[in-house]
Amino acid sequence: MALDEIKVTRAIVESYVESFLKFTDVDVALVGAGPANLVAAKKLAENDAKTVLFEKRLSVGGGVWGGGMMFPRIVVQSEACRILEEYDIWYREFDEGYYVANSIETVAKLTARAIDAGAEIFNLVTVEDVMIREDDRVTGLVINWTTAQMAGLPIDPLSVRAKVVIDGTGHDAAICRVVQKKIPGAIVGLSGISGERPMWAEVGERNVVEATREVYPGLIVCGMAAAAVSAGPRMGPIFGGMLQSGERAAAIALEKLGR
Ligand SMILES: Cc1cc2nc3c(=O)[nH]c(=O)nc-3n(C[C@H](O)[C@H](O)[C@H](O)COP(=O)(O)OP(=O)(O)OC[C@H]3O[C@@H](n4cnc5c(N)ncnc54)[C@H](O)[C@@H]3O)c2cc1C
Repeated sequence: MALDEIKVTRAIVESYVESFLKFTDVDVALVGAGPANLVAAKKLAENDAKTVLFEKRLSVGGGVWGGGMMFPRIVVQSEACRILEEYDIWYREFDEGYYVANSIETVAKLTARAIDAGAEIFNLVTVEDVMIREDDRVTGLVINWTTAQMAGLPIDPLSVRAKVVIDGTGHDAAICRVVQKKIPGAIVGLSGISGERPMWAEVGERNVVEATREVYPGLIVCGMAAAAVSAGPRMGPIFGGMLQSGERAAAIALEKLGR
């Protein structure tokens, strides 16, 4: 069969635009494709929530790929092993209560299962702002190509409507910071978002799950962003808390959607 490059072009552009248009009005819009939001996206989609996830980088997976200091392994504690099993991710016990998994397999399977469940992921899209309406709730996202942002081009963004937004942007807590800046004191009082405190894995892991909550009407924070907003300690390459935080974020969102 003769190959026509223009058909290849049309297949890519038409398919992308069709999908993009379908996801301009959703139940849940997630920002950042780190482990917490990848877990949340799967849970939401498999509970019939129309779910879209925007990631500013080329690759999804956030900080999981590099494991600890570029050794592609992560540690998960016993509470979260059931999540690894749910995703069929290989792991083995290293010592009592410490389990080790392959970071590359973890990203691949978290991502694949979110997509299989029906979540749509758009990479290379940066969320730069939110929409807030008179009733003081987040009602959507303002997005732009990451490449346009990187080049500093004066290009206006586009918008996506969402009933619920989840900030899973890691250390940046980018969406919470936007809301806090535009409505001073909205999330943590006037002191502002301080970011996470020094490493203390045990407390940090507990805190990241407890701090996963709706921080402003329509806006839920999870993962490392929840640690940053709550000024909890960082925890390093142990990921059970991130996975559980994603589950909790999805549960809060589903409750808000009445599911
Ligand atoms: C690139 C990266 C590398 C890291 N490497 C290590 C490491 O080697 N060792 C270690 O111990 N910890 C590392 N960390 C931190 C650690 O991985 C995190 O604590 C953990 O992954 C947090 O998971 P998370 O789900 O909160 O989101 P993260 O894994 O932090 O992912 C957040 C995602 O949000 C995306 N994002 C941020 N802002 C926006 C926006 N405005 N619009 C769209 N997307 C956005 C980011 O690109 C990222 O993919 C890294 C974090 C990142 C982001």
